[in-house]
Amino acid sequence: MYRRISYLQMKKRKARRRKMIKAGCALLMAAVIGGASLALAVNALAAPENSAMEEAGTEGIQGGTEETISGNVAVPGPAEETAKKEEGVPAIVIDPGHGGEDEGCAGEGIREKDVNLAIAKLVRDKLDGMGYQVMMTREDDTYIAKEERVKNANEYGADIYVSIHQNTYEDGSVEGIETWYDGSDSERDSKRLAQLIHQETIKTTGALQRQIREDADFHVTGKTIMPACLIETGFLSNPGERGKLATAEYQEQIAEGIVRGIELYFHPKTMYLTFDDGPYVENTARVLDVLKARNIKATFFLVGENVERNPEMARRIAAEGHTIGIHCYNHDYEAIYQSVDSYVQDFEKAYQVIKETTGVEAKLFRFPGGSVNAYNKKVCKEIAEEMTARGFIYYDWNASMEDAVKEPVPEQLIANAKESALGREKVVLLAHDVVYATGMCLDDLLDRLPEYRMEALTEDLEPVHFQMK
Ligand SMILES: [Zn+2]
Ligand SMILES: [Zn+2]
Repeated sequence: MYRRISYLQMKKRKARRRKMIKAGCALLMAAVIGGASLALAVNALAAPENSAMEEAGTEGIQGGTEETISGNVAVPGPAEETAKKEEGVPAIVIDPGHGGEDEGCAGEGIREKDVNLAIAKLVRDKLDGMGYQVMMTREDDTYIAKEERVKNANEYGADIYVSIHQNTYEDGSVEGIETWYDGSDSERDSKRLAQLIHQETIKTTGALQRQIREDADFHVTGKTIMPACLIETGFLSNPGERGKLATAEYQEQIAEGIVRGIELYFHPKTMYLTFDDGPYVENTARVLDVLKARNIKATFFLVGENVERNPEMARRIAAEGHTIGIHCYNHDYEAIYQSVDSYVQDFEKAYQVIKETTGVEAKLFRFPGGSVNAYNKKVCKEIAEEMTARGFIYYDWNASMEDAVKEPVPEQLIANAKESALGREKVVLLAHDVVYATGMCLDDLLDRLPEYRMEALTEDLEPVHFQMK
């Protein structure tokens, strides 16, 4: 009945750095349905079709539960030690939901357990090829209790846990991808994992984007000790989606999305948040609060006059570990760009004020309007050369919130930032901490950039410069 992996196969697989999980023993499983707890005795053989209580459906559709409450007793396997991960290489547990007598949901003969396993194998092979350590909770059509899956993943010391499932709902028109994580545990980085897998899978499949749900009280997302998420890659109750889910081509697209999400989780791109024109009292404080809560360091290009007006805020920026750069003393394009001398004079004034107020001897600076703008075309090259000779480093930007407009709309600022980033590996994002809307939407924006790790600019980086003719 159970196709168990032989010990020899096991050794071979271990040699290939894939780790198997031993089968579990008899368990009573509890499922929480809409808040009510049910304890069902495990039945040894009876596994009626669709016995699984399937996952939650649509937004507003209450309850739903992950993981089956059916299942049966697995014969304990030979005493094998749970695989241990090798240090230094990310270790990933891929968990194809259900298996064996627990078929999960189904539609027109397409069974969830089979689709889950097919996708999981594709994910495993891709990750394997990329050098990750991968452990599958099952490699064939075997029933393994969810408790056993989690226990083994925890003992293995996995870095992340990704569970793959299919969805079902009574309304056959409901479709799309849904991803779940346990938001009650903020210690683990589950949210970012869920966001990345969700976002990348939507991209590779073009599937309807449903919610990322943080209220997953599933065993596999809640009892794992590493970041974990559960993706429902489609609805087997939807004829169109079911048809696609049964094809190797679509399974491949899903697997590719999951792998890209995992890759970005371990190897995020880099974004440098830069804020110009401050400090202001309230708006800068709002930005600093968001950064502090997320433990993110950014770069502030300060205006000398504003530092004089709000010295405490300038000191707070420095005290909280952000990079301070110089923008100008007086933000008056026509005055400062008259000549090299007028620029240098204004700059030196700003430099002194910032040094006296914060103690920071800034090396980085940003030209008001950028290194090339409508006001400095004739002198920009000369000024840049002079400033470089003086040992200062200037930074332009390659993405912008475009928040220096009359009536900035938060949602638009977020869209601007995301679109102008163009998915680049290294993004220097221009923003203005003096703008109210910017501070108001910063948290949302950061939530929507899970593929980026935020860093402060330093002197050692290759600067981003506009092209000077
Ligand atoms: Zn499922
Ligand atoms: Zn400016």
